[in-house]
Amino acid sequence: MSNSDYSALVASQREFFLSGATRPAAWRKAQLEAVNALFTDNHDELCDALWKDLRRNVNDADLMDVAYCAKEAEYALKHLNTWMKPVREPMPVVFEPGHILVHRDPLGVTLIIGAWNEPFMLTFGPLVAALAAGNTAVLKPSEISAACAAAAARLVPKYFDPRAVVVVEGGVPETTELLAQEWDLIFFTGSPSVGKIVHQAAARNLTPCVLELGGKNPTIVHSSANLKVTARRIAFGRFINSGHICTAPDHVLVWPDVKDAFVQHMAETIREFYGDDPQQSPDYGRVINRRNFDRLVTLLDSGKAATGGQSDAADLYIAPTVLVDVAVDAPIMQEEIFGPILPVLEIASVEAVVEWVNSRPSPLGLYVFAEDNAVAERILAATRSGDAVVNDCAIHPLFPELPFGGVGNSGMGKYHGHWGFEAFTNARGVLHHSARVDPDVRYPPYAKHGIQRVIVNKLMP
Ligand code: NAD
Repeated sequence: MSNSDYSALVASQREFFLSGATRPAAWRKAQLEAVNALFTDNHDELCDALWKDLRRNVNDADLMDVAYCAKEAEYALKHLNTWMKPVREPMPVVFEPGHILVHRDPLGVTLIIGAWNEPFMLTFGPLVAALAAGNTAVLKPSEISAACAAAAARLVPKYFDPRAVVVVEGGVPETTELLAQEWDLIFFTGSPSVGKIVHQAAARNLTPCVLELGGKNPTIVHSSANLKVTARRIAFGRFINSGHICTAPDHVLVWPDVKDAFVQHMAETIREFYGDDPQQSPDYGRVINRRNFDRLVTLLDSGKAATGGQSDAADLYIAPTVLVDVAVDAPIMQEEIFGPILPVLEIASVEAVVEWVNSRPSPLGLYVFAEDNAVAERILAATRSGDAVVNDCAIHPLFPELPFGGVGNSGMGKYHGHWGFEAFTNARGVLHHSARVDPDVRYPPYAKHGIQRVIVNKLMP
């Protein structure tokens, strides 16, 4: 596509939006039904694409992408009437008769740029919110999950009018061209470094952005934690999708008195989940590409493998690995791992945890495993993170009731469920003031109103 093609695409969606066609609830519901149908009718093809790109098993394909998107659309369908209803707020008595309403108005033509690790969730999840809110959308899936991007590009025209939803395939040059267009919202999922490029491009037109970014999610294991359950939940969160999960526990900070027992539980759990040779497990995935494989293999040298540590370049396989004896300044502690390696470091107090979290970029997720509730409460009360989970990790994006998103370096703006609807709308305050009553006391010259004026001032909002 040339630059003029992109301009024409945006112009066509803007014309459609301005026609009013996307505003009625009936249109929005039909689009949400179409998202649901796309993922239901083509379930096997979409799971195959995830297998090709990530060697993802069907269970996890459904959990994070295929059934996930269908359910997100169903949830929006169920709640849409309530979300669309204007909210009434109290009217100050001096302005009676009248009323105050907050409308949730669509923003217009939106651009949704996705990352490769959850290729459908990260493009069609925001799309559900965009459509529920009455917008049009251009989807730009990641070129790295190529099979999934191709499936999306092939299927979307079958389910949507291109004036409402279009997929643009491509990498950096295509995304750069797209970012040069004028949008009403840009919704981006990816790394903080590219997030900054997107934010700068958006600033040229004062376009609002939602930035869903990544980072290192600290995972705290306190002495009071149920170690067996903790190990199972951390192993699930770290090794699902080969560790390519933005909410995965990035590193564990464990109280010294339970460190050895925790590491032992991790080794047993990995064997339970994936057998003696995880490379043969139908449930264990592969690294997305050679570039990430090479990056991750280098990170294996940051400590001693308490379990795992094996790799096979020809198969893009890295064993589920737990690293101990990791220095605080080791390479693995300098970047988001985004792969199946879990460094375990010791920490000895709540104060040290707070200092650790607060002296680093704000994470997307913060996880605390502790049976002693006060420990979790003290940590949460003194730190910042996009979201937080107590006694579990990584799974919170599956709850549409929870706002999902980062803070600081891990992003801005929230979505999922009602939060997504809010992200894709303008809270338009609408004041209706009746012309039937219009007392003089509101207007100059004020001096003539005396005591009445004093009373009105007190009653003003
Ligand atoms: P990325 O930032 O490299 O790419 C994301 C998107 O931006 C892709 O569509 C890509 O084509 C495009 N892009 C890349 N470089 C660009 C450039 N220079 N100019 C314009 N566009 C560009 O991220 P990734 O490698 O696809 O994904 C991994 C990152 O995403 C990790 O940091 C991870 O934590 C984060 N992530 C965040 C969430 C979340 O919901 N917060 C979810 C998944 C992944």
